[in-house]
Amino acid sequence: MERTIKLMFKSKPTLEGAGVRLHRAFGYHQIPLFDPFLLLDHFGSQNPEDYIKGFPWHPHRGIETVTYMLTGEVAHGDSMGNSGVIRSGDLQWMTAGSGVIHQEMPKRYEGLLEGFQLWVNLPAAQKMTHPRYQGILRDQIPTIHHENGMIKIIAGKIDGTPGPVKDLMVDIEYLDVSLPTGKHFIRTTPKGYTTLLYVIRGSGSLQGKTIGSYEGVLFNEGDRVALSAAEDLRFLFITGEPLKEPIAWGGPIVMNTEAELQQAFKELENGTFIRQSHSDSLSSDYYRG
Ligand code: MN
Repeated sequence: MERTIKLMFKSKPTLEGAGVRLHRAFGYHQIPLFDPFLLLDHFGSQNPEDYIKGFPWHPHRGIETVTYMLTGEVAHGDSMGNSGVIRSGDLQWMTAGSGVIHQEMPKRYEGLLEGFQLWVNLPAAQKMTHPRYQGILRDQIPTIHHENGMIKIIAGKIDGTPGPVKDLMVDIEYLDVSLPTGKHFIRTTPKGYTTLLYVIRGSGSLQGKTIGSYEGVLFNEGDRVALSAAEDLRFLFITGEPLKEPIAWGGPIVMNTEAELQQAFKELENGTFIRQSHSDSLSSDYYRG
């Protein structure tokens, strides 16, 4: 049975970090609608004033942040001792677990800087897991070419080809799909999983509706999703197993209870928030040239 449209949404201009203008597709006010996903931000600007102030040092606990840059560069550093630059086409999958303090600073870029940050909630049992991140270069993201278009596998598996992210804490499929005008995308989805898509550019048709850039669709239950490209279409396709656990969300920290949230803020104040200082990351091949 094809999944029908549960909700059509449009990302909204939002000011974040130290003054970054971005578009938020969904976030705090939609929980738990997109469970296990908490937030999806879309950065896209040709004007450095919109992003140059960046996201200076800030904490995270209880979530994963997934940064995927289409074009542009973001310098990062964290309390595990990692630092580097996420460049055009690169991916950073950061598991904050028990706690990370990091900064994410977009660099002045000629032309359009565009990317996404998705927040994935961690299951209660993994909220205090060791923090780590996986830095993945553009060329390490498998690309499937076929007559209907092109799919980059950020997470999940297509026709036996796995995405580059290891040891996913939550079962997720995250695809970057390009579909030429008139071509179709059909994808089976696991029963009970949350499924959404978000249009980057072009326009798509599904179930008599048309969606364009900065617009998305959250789907109802079903076995598969189908859409066609009304006009050269590029979209994110995201599916995940819902956690169905209570959510206590305080800014960059997302726990299950208010007490855990208060504990986290108390630890931030008294300097015990970070549980370990050594690097625990799969980042050996993260540096380029
Ligand atoms: Mn962050």
